[in-house]
Amino acid sequence: MKKTILLSFLALSCGVVFAQQPQDVRNDKIGVGMTPTMSEYWSPKPKVVTPGNQATASAPSDAIVLFDGTEKSMTDNWVTVNMRTQEAAPAKWIVKDGAMTVNKDVRNGGGNIQTKENFGSFQLHIEWCVPEMDAQFTSQIRGNSGVYLQNMYEVQILDSYNNDTYVNGMAGSIYKQTPPLANAMRKPGEWNVYDIIYNAPVFNADGTYKVRPYVTVIQNGVVLQNHTEILGTTEYIGFPQVRAHGDGPILLQNHGDPSPGISFRNIWIRRL
Ligand code: MG
Repeated sequence: MKKTILLSFLALSCGVVFAQQPQDVRNDKIGVGMTPTMSEYWSPKPKVVTPGNQATASAPSDAIVLFDGTEKSMTDNWVTVNMRTQEAAPAKWIVKDGAMTVNKDVRNGGGNIQTKENFGSFQLHIEWCVPEMDAQFTSQIRGNSGVYLQNMYEVQILDSYNNDTYVNGMAGSIYKQTPPLANAMRKPGEWNVYDIIYNAPVFNADGTYKVRPYVTVIQNGVVLQNHTEILGTTEYIGFPQVRAHGDGPILLQNHGDPSPGISFRNIWIRRL
């Protein structure tokens, strides 16, 4: 019964997306009457794959280095944008030992950070580490962050190591859309690697997709998303929507929960 309901919601999701909203017109009724759990599903579970050893990949010659382990490269390349005023200020995450850690103190300059530069299609390399933490932090409040492609579509970051949650919210999911093909997590305290190949969408004049966005995600050498079609925007409540946009920044999420923040290092990007 539960599965039937979930499949119905998925079908509805596709219907909503394929109906394609006009540019800049958001159908706010989509989320009305819904709860967050209505767009979450818990099975089937992706298989657990223990990743092999992997050498750190330094940036190729034509890459733009977005974070090299120094405070300077963070402030040169990343900003925090005030959601209310849309004013940008230099990123204030905590840089230590070659990594930057999410600053959850939103009142003092913390919060999400995003690249100063905008990107279309790209190849992104980013390494991230979930700290060891108490067992009280479970499901979506355990190592939650995310990489937002063009500030629109979230590739989820989460501690999926022995941490049950809805499968379309696991690490490597297209959040609230497509679960990963495998669970390739390393243990808390160990570094994970994402290589993300993203094909930006092309829009018709009326704001509908002419070419949809697609993404491939590889975690620790294991394919999690294989040229996956992105259905629309990431929505916590309700279903993905189609909203026309141009090039956009890479955004790293500060998830507003009380668990310890995760760390990032060695971030570089190549335009495609
Ligand atoms: Mg997230």
